Amino acid sequence: MPFPHMLEELDLGFTKLNNRVVMGSMHTGLEEVKNGFDRMATYYRDRARGGVGLIITGGFAPNFEGRVSPFASQLSFRWQIKNHKKITKAVHEEGGKIALQILHAGRYAYHPFNVAPSAIKAPIGLFKPRALSEKGIERTINDFVQCAVLAKEAGYDGVEVMGSEGYLINEFIAKRTNKRKDQWGGSYENRIRLPLEILKRMRERVGEDFIIIYRLSILDLVEDGSHWDEIKELAKKVESHGATIINSGIGWHESRVPTIATRVPRAAFAECSKEIKSVVSIPVIAVNRINTPAKAEEVLQNGFSDLVSLARPLLADSEFVNKASEQRENEINVCIACNQACLDHTFKGKVSSCLVNPMACHETFYEEKKVEKVKQIAVVGAGPAGLAFSFAAARRGHKVTLYESEKNIGGQFNMAKKIPGKEEFEETLRYYGEMMKKWGVQLKLGTRVETNDLLLGEYDEVILATGVNPRVPKIKGIGHPKVLLYTDVLKKGVEVGKKVAVIGAGGIGFDVSEFLLQDPAKVSAGLDKKEYFKKWGVDTTQARPGGLLEKIEEEEPFRTIYLCQRKTSKLGAGLGKTTGWAHRLALKKDGVHMLAGVEYKEISDQGLLIVHNGKEKTLEVDHVIICSGQTPKRNLFPELEEAGVNVHLVGGANEAKELDAKGAIKEATLLALKI
Ligand code: NAP
Ligand code: SF4
Repeated sequence: MPFPHMLEELDLGFTKLNNRVVMGSMHTGLEEVKNGFDRMATYYRDRARGGVGLIITGGFAPNFEGRVSPFASQLSFRWQIKNHKKITKAVHEEGGKIALQILHAGRYAYHPFNVAPSAIKAPIGLFKPRALSEKGIERTINDFVQCAVLAKEAGYDGVEVMGSEGYLINEFIAKRTNKRKDQWGGSYENRIRLPLEILKRMRERVGEDFIIIYRLSILDLVEDGSHWDEIKELAKKVESHGATIINSGIGWHESRVPTIATRVPRAAFAECSKEIKSVVSIPVIAVNRINTPAKAEEVLQNGFSDLVSLARPLLADSEFVNKASEQRENEINVCIACNQACLDHTFKGKVSSCLVNPMACHETFYEEKKVEKVKQIAVVGAGPAGLAFSFAAARRGHKVTLYESEKNIGGQFNMAKKIPGKEEFEETLRYYGEMMKKWGVQLKLGTRVETNDLLLGEYDEVILATGVNPRVPKIKGIGHPKVLLYTDVLKKGVEVGKKVAVIGAGGIGFDVSEFLLQDPAKVSAGLDKKEYFKKWGVDTTQARPGGLLEKIEEEEPFRTIYLCQRKTSKLGAGLGKTTGWAHRLALKKDGVHMLAGVEYKEISDQGLLIVHNGKEKTLEVDHVIICSGQTPKRNLFPELEEAGVNVHLVGGANEAKELDAKGAIKEATLLALKI
């Protein structure tokens, strides 16, 4: 059997899980939209059909105060059960199992009625919370229990009590947020009273034949968090108070350590779960950045945990488990941990989806039907848009020929994957490569097509996914040999001096800066866990409560970089909500000079002459790198259109402004679904 540890059944006594893969809780925004429960039923049904052992829903609050935002989901009343039954029925029909996550947001709630152990505002919060009274605490415990009882009535196989990530329960546990003087604060025994009371009373009410998962914060990654002795003590008590499974939680939301972004090495935190596994006899789940069957198998084989949790990877590919068990793991559409269409959407109040799988959470909208009339389609350009179109069109039954002037597929992704921490982009190219073979797309690499080639009447439709050209700004001296385009650096590998000015601080300007800060001599085969922990000050031995090092060792930056933009706003303001802060922090750690409100005057032998803060100054640099956006590359379009060819532009060739892979892949996929 492939992946024997991952695919092994888990007997919980009163019930069995088909394998060791848990779909971790992830709020998708479907919880709050019209017809959201019907959409969730389909979304979870697909994941159950795809073979996952246990699904955990997005968080539902046990009461109004605990809602993440004023209109966020809550399960407190019997009339709400009917909707939940749609989900549980759909999952059970596929032979799956599903637990409801109970999430009380505590001081992270984005509304003025938020509560916490003490009235201390979260650094990432909008509203100062009200400290819960003792009566309020009692009521909150009852609300958690009631929520679990309702979940059982709705047909869920269990619940997950969210005790990590800096939400209410975690706030009670940590000294950082709990300054109470009553029986709910002070000693550790008092601070863990809340989760233990919840678990004890919940078990009494739901009976023995119901899964209760407790999500335990095993590494807070904030000052004044818990330390290993305390966490292990809590784990033991969580077991004795009725939990069936312990899930691991890594890092509070206010932590300044990235824990799930692409830059985090795969399964970086899984070993921490072993500490918990060593002190309890109930199963333990390892989490964060486990995105392939091989990694999941390795974690389980190493004995780090009994189960693995994958949230985003199941968004990216609902068939993750089935593909692995059928030895088709090369066909898995791997999550690249970009957060661009999932968490970034959630934090903007939009329904989640997935950059590499735009159908995710929109299953009921975009139906993929086999074609009635097979068309001959030419696609020009094998970047993300061309690949996504070719795959989706060929899968529907069209005959697709994909032309690419380069020797490899991938387009802009071939540059993205060279950025430190973005190596995962290679997975998407690997996946598309497999899909081209599987669905019989004729791939013509190293072939530059001209208009005449497409005018021979061979094709019913022509798709131009020709991408973009770097925009060259009009600055005096732009032709100077010091000037390089980002493509010269990332694609052509032109050697760059030690002092550099980067013009343009969008996604590419940030990426180029990160690329140039890396010492090529130190580039290892993959992301290194030790290096990552060192850079971000993580101490998994938790010598200090919370697991942060007292001081981060500073290293001499590999290059001096001036990152410039004309706007006066914060640099990187347009980057992803959940990853932008980490990009900014990473560059700051490496001493990048971030200059906003810059006027570019001239590029000369001396360097780059700018006006900044009202003063003229010369940045004495060896190279000036242009990262000032792109313009569409669509030279083939006018003649084809004029000749009456059914021609379509997709991706950057259609609209370069603020276009990224997310938009390109979605646009191309939707075109393929209707062509
Ligand atoms: P971008 O995000 O549009 O940024 C272009 C930058 O160039 C801006 O900082 C802009 O700032 C500057 N600029 C524009 N016109 C200029 C001119 N004429 N002269 C001088 N400066 C000029 O474009 P990009 O960085 O090329 O990225 C392309 C797309 O890929 C974007 O959608 C981006 O979000 C996405 N992407 C995202 C990431 C990520 O999230 N990490 C990484 C890579 C790419 P001023 O106008 O203020 O000077
Ligand atoms: Fe993963 Fe990015 Fe998709 Fe989110 S949007 S599930 S991070 S690939």
